Amino acid sequence: PSMAQNGRVTTDFKQSNQAHNSNAFARREEIRQQRESLPIASVKERLIEEVKKHDVLIIVGETGSGKTTQIPQFLFSAGFCREGKSVGITQPRRVAAVTVAKRVAEECGVELGQKVGYSIRFDDRTSGVTRIKYMTDGLLLREALLDPYLSRYSVVIVDEAHERTVHTDVLLGLLKNVQKARLKSKLIIMSASLDARVFSEYFGGARAVHIQGRQHPVDILYTLYPEKDYVDAALVTIFQIHLEERHGDILVFLTGQEEIEAVERLVQERLRQLPESNRKLVTVPIFSSLPSEQQMRVFMPAPDGHLVLATNIAETSVTIPGIKFVIDPGFVKARSYDPAKGMESLIIIPTSKAQALQRSGRAGREGPGKCFRLYPESEFEKLEDSTKPEIKRCNLANVILQLKALGVDDIFGFDFIEKPSRAAIVKSLEHLFLLGALTDDCKLSDPVGHQMARLPLDPIYSKALILASQFNCLEEMLITVAMLSVDSVFYAPREKLDESRTAAKCFASPDGDHITLINVYRAAEDLLEKRKWVPHTERNEKIFKAKSEKIFKRWCKENFINGRSVRHARDIHSQIRGHVEQMGLRITSCGDDMLQFRRCLAASFFINAALKQPEGNYRAFGTGQVVQIHPSSVLFQSKVECVVFNEMVQTTNKYIRNVTRIEYMWLTELAPHYYTMQS
Ligand code: ADP
Ligand code: MG
Repeated sequence: PSMAQNGRVTTDFKQSNQAHNSNAFARREEIRQQRESLPIASVKERLIEEVKKHDVLIIVGETGSGKTTQIPQFLFSAGFCREGKSVGITQPRRVAAVTVAKRVAEECGVELGQKVGYSIRFDDRTSGVTRIKYMTDGLLLREALLDPYLSRYSVVIVDEAHERTVHTDVLLGLLKNVQKARLKSKLIIMSASLDARVFSEYFGGARAVHIQGRQHPVDILYTLYPEKDYVDAALVTIFQIHLEERHGDILVFLTGQEEIEAVERLVQERLRQLPESNRKLVTVPIFSSLPSEQQMRVFMPAPDGHLVLATNIAETSVTIPGIKFVIDPGFVKARSYDPAKGMESLIIIPTSKAQALQRSGRAGREGPGKCFRLYPESEFEKLEDSTKPEIKRCNLANVILQLKALGVDDIFGFDFIEKPSRAAIVKSLEHLFLLGALTDDCKLSDPVGHQMARLPLDPIYSKALILASQFNCLEEMLITVAMLSVDSVFYAPREKLDESRTAAKCFASPDGDHITLINVYRAAEDLLEKRKWVPHTERNEKIFKAKSEKIFKRWCKENFINGRSVRHARDIHSQIRGHVEQMGLRITSCGDDMLQFRRCLAASFFINAALKQPEGNYRAFGTGQVVQIHPSSVLFQSKVECVVFNEMVQTTNKYIRNVTRIEYMWLTELAPHYYTMQS
């Protein structure tokens, strides 16, 4: 390079360095002002006094008032983290734990993982010096397995308690049990809804304080007629706002990753058809399984406007600044459990009134806003008042396993804030019993039950891993479980359905979806890790990384594979691998002997087996239900006799997903306790 060039490069560098310093200064100042203007800032001293006075305190405040980010910092500065103790804050959702921890670390001017950190399943960013720790409620429950009094925490804050996730409910029950014995420790329950009474009563009339929030008026608009296709209606509304209203960000509530990604693509496509001057609209997706770097994008400035596509995560868990328009199709994906059939499924249901109100409130945080409800006003009146707690609509096997591991043997007598039905408890006990996790007198079995309780997975997956080590195919099962734990790996855009189906065929195994998933995983792994062609030096490593990322991206695009999901699966894989190594399970591969692997699937998922019926449908053994193989399965329209599956989805028909071909005889051989009972 010439001198001139060199010279210019240096001055540029100096300038940008200065710019960086003054930027950093401006940023700190901006954050300071933001913090001071939060409604909670003016009641700091009063709140600290209340916490000092009461061992159990309930704090209720409007979303966005500063509860989650500020209260832990108040407590830290009031000396609650002396003697190595920490403030632990639980969130029902992973995304919230991560984004909030990052924000608070920035507010404190520290690096994430030092004073402020987070810990969620499969991702821990804390260290010995962490004093403010955000985590999921499920993770704190796991910590209770090792430390029943949660003695590391001077304060435990159960945040977003109104969400009433099954983990929150169990955690509250547990904490109620031990709070008296948690010497000098505090319990705070935070909630966005206005109904603090239920928590207060549960904790024997505990003190509740309310924080006034700021809420600007929000115009609510309804459609005149019901919409046939809410995705399409949402698209129309997005562009109506984009073209007519100009200023202000838009937040759309959708039901899940697939829907969000579909809308993202459709928006991009329509933008391309607009005149140049109208094309600028930054779409940002946010949903639970999104990798954390990408979650943060909702907080980055976009001068020409944001279009945030979110799941119900953005109702209360994550406060996104700048939203002026909310589009609410009125649906949410929820777990649902039928104890009679022992079947859990994800279904899309109408929101409750409380959810609809919460959603529209998101538009009025910084000024007056508008909310477009994509249904007629008369429909609103028909909605349920509030959402049913999750514990009343899920399979309890996981909860029971954890409670048993915590020494709570009498599940029926456990003091739940709201008791699940007896039928659901019985069915879930039965399920655990079938999986071999419980002994005849309903204690955790040794070693299987204890091993299962240690794995942070659905019990049926934990059992599959334990069995796989005996079937010599733990490597394959680890990949399978990781891939089953993420959202769909293939995507099939409506407009390119044929192309995507053809692409998917090159991974397809005639034996079914589980092996297909392994094929995809291994192909991705090859791309991201094959380093045969370069000598191993630091520089090469960098080049290799950049190159393989690029190749990977292109490969994903060409094969209609969701790169996000595959990366997420790789993360999960390495974490579970760590767990099973610690447990001393033998990790071997069955190589090309997929028969062995399929036998292991049959032994693991025997509860979900289905047999072909003369008319072409399948009948699930466990539940007797008539089901069909989902069109996304490689076995769709095949004629196999007997299958195991992992998931049932109900739309107009009942579909089974993630399906593998097995032999009926294997079931009687590998799960005789179930298959003789049945006949
Ligand atoms: P609450 O818990 O009461 O709902 P929070 O403490 O989560 O409120 O949020 C307080 C404010 O901080 C919100 O107005 C939000 O805009 C802002 N905020 C929270 N997280 C972030 C973030 N990661 N980046 C930028 N601003 C944030
Ligand atoms: Mg909050």
